[in-house]
Amino acid sequence: MENWGIYVHIPWCRRRCPYCDFYFEIGAAQQGYAKKILEEFERKKHLWPAQAPSTLYLGGGTPSLLHPEELDKIIMGLKKAAGVQQWQVSLEANPEDLDETILESLKAVGVERLSLGIQSFDDGVLKWLGRAHDGKRAQEVIQQAQSAGFTELSVDFIFGLPGESLQRVETELNTLAAFDVGHVSAYLLTVEPGTPLLIQIQKNKKQAPDDDFQADIYAHLQHELKRSGYQQYEISSWAKAGKASTHNRIYWGQGSYLGLGPGAHSCRVLPAGDLERRINVSDLQKWWQGEPGIEEVSLQSPEASFLESVAFGFRDMERGVRLKRLSERHQTPVSSELLSKLQSMQRKGWVSQMKTAWVLTESGALFADAVAREILN
Ligand code: SF4
Repeated sequence: MENWGIYVHIPWCRRRCPYCDFYFEIGAAQQGYAKKILEEFERKKHLWPAQAPSTLYLGGGTPSLLHPEELDKIIMGLKKAAGVQQWQVSLEANPEDLDETILESLKAVGVERLSLGIQSFDDGVLKWLGRAHDGKRAQEVIQQAQSAGFTELSVDFIFGLPGESLQRVETELNTLAAFDVGHVSAYLLTVEPGTPLLIQIQKNKKQAPDDDFQADIYAHLQHELKRSGYQQYEISSWAKAGKASTHNRIYWGQGSYLGLGPGAHSCRVLPAGDLERRINVSDLQKWWQGEPGIEEVSLQSPEASFLESVAFGFRDMERGVRLKRLSERHQTPVSSELLSKLQSMQRKGWVSQMKTAWVLTESGALFADAVAREILN
């Protein structure tokens, strides 16, 4: 039986980061949220595998805005209701929301892995990104988390801003090296539709990121993170030995996960090989009131699910795509057309064939979207 996980969306933020297109509401977290999450789990749990989930991920929005008592109710409530003995609980947090007391409370309620929205140690970069913390606070929070006993830490960075230099990578990683952090997620800045950043660019108040520079900085990041002892195991994720994210690997492997809360996505693999997806409405009040139509459900045929599992399976650069296993899971034969597409991408150096799996190469990581498009078209 494959691992499956639970995702809980905590939809509040203190302020809007101009580049962000996630679903969130500005303001303080609403009391009683834990109760609503547990009710949603009770309504849906019969649809997910009978075995206990292996991971719980609290994402957002800003989960660290939720009071530790509410977090405790969610974590302990889900653990009991899902019959969990052992699982990995991860939580996303922003530096400005944490202090020693909160970190200790998070540890006490069972959070094991913290994903910190550091983004940069440079005040100028943080200001450009519209973040609420500064570089000094970013360093302090890592130190505080480690003192509170968090050995599973992940740090997020955003690179590829207009006017940035390649040197920024070394500067950030040199600062990070003072702490023994096991996991790094490094993203390139993207300009999403409907974001304040896009409007600022359209009004010439900010410059757009440059594609060629982003390709250069990505290659530089790959090189420097490797030199710092991190192994790339996903397009935007690097880890030291044993520190890869268990929960995110379920997404990349197109496994089953149950999303709870407004805007949360779910996916489950059905016995006949189809993938069923559910998307909760991105509207806190509608979700809270449980109005009809708060959830969109779609079913994908086994053939389409197989191709999607192959296309997105390449994101996991260590495990890669095991065609035989996916073909059995989705009850779909491997076509000669798919094999010839893979061989053509192998000639371009984007993918390579290992013993039992096809994997994305280091240079192919920059073309991951093109690889997925090629497989799906
Ligand atoms: S804190 Fe995170 S979720 Fe909230 S606006 Fe900023 S990037 Fe988006």
